[in-house]
Amino acid sequence: MVSLTGKTAVITGSTSGIGLAYARAMAKAGANIVLNGMGTPAEIEKERSGIESDFKVKAVHSPADMTKPAEIAEMVALGDKTFGSVDILVNNAGIQFVSPVEEFPIDKWDAIIAINLSSAFHAIRAAVPGMKQRGWGRIINTASAHSLVASPFKSAYVAAKHGIAGLTKTVALELATDKITCNAISPGYVWTPLVERQIPDTMKARNMTKEQVIKDVMLEAQPTKEFVTVEQVAAMALYLCSDEASQITGANFSIDGGWTAK
Ligand code: NAD
Repeated sequence: MVSLTGKTAVITGSTSGIGLAYARAMAKAGANIVLNGMGTPAEIEKERSGIESDFKVKAVHSPADMTKPAEIAEMVALGDKTFGSVDILVNNAGIQFVSPVEEFPIDKWDAIIAINLSSAFHAIRAAVPGMKQRGWGRIINTASAHSLVASPFKSAYVAAKHGIAGLTKTVALELATDKITCNAISPGYVWTPLVERQIPDTMKARNMTKEQVIKDVMLEAQPTKEFVTVEQVAAMALYLCSDEASQITGANFSIDGGWTAK
């Protein structure tokens, strides 16, 4: 059982889906949590207070917009100010947009590169000095099967996720002697709001019904024919925070039901 008592985890995009599962798993292991992400004040408060009451740790929410470098630095500073350190940084916020490349809206391209890739750079840049000073750190980037292979109509997402795989390796090498690890987790299809939301556009781009998209596009990619669960992804992140994982750095872990083995 991994103990994170006394540690602080900043998790971007943790008001929903995989990010929320990371936050709850790390809180269960004893870490104080900086939540981040969108939602109504009531929805965010429900998750924040739920973490505190379920796991007897402290949790705060940073409203930082991952397209804004100054707000990302403020999010890391909030962790430092509130809890005295940022020991674990999970770069997880992400969005998706599905469209043929020649019709891909320029603003969607820019937003995906900013949120899914550049925000990780800005957060790492802000968190590393404190981790170096304390001589311990864990950086975990949520990549994707799309950091290893491509699918049509996802040009920006695939470019950003291949980018985060490269960023992970570079940061791991730079911090290799600082007792700070940097790894990526690459899930296949996980049933979250992000996946649910891309079904209508995929139906349009591929001229398919909802059932066909789920069976012939999503689960077609995964040999197990099952969605990954958010808890399975969070369990890997928790392991990467353990002392047993201190020699794992620069790695990219697939949790994709065999998708990228094909
Ligand atoms: P989700 O939509 O449930 O959660 C995304 C989170 O990011 C939310 O908390 C949202 O508020 C936040 N977010 C979005 N834009 C933001 C912004 N500008 N600033 C701050 N926060 C913002 O999605 P999810 O499926 O849990 O995805 C989480 C991560 O996992 C993403 O990086 C995604 O690419 C990756 N991923 C998901 C799957 C999947 O099948 N669901 C597979 C592989 C990788």
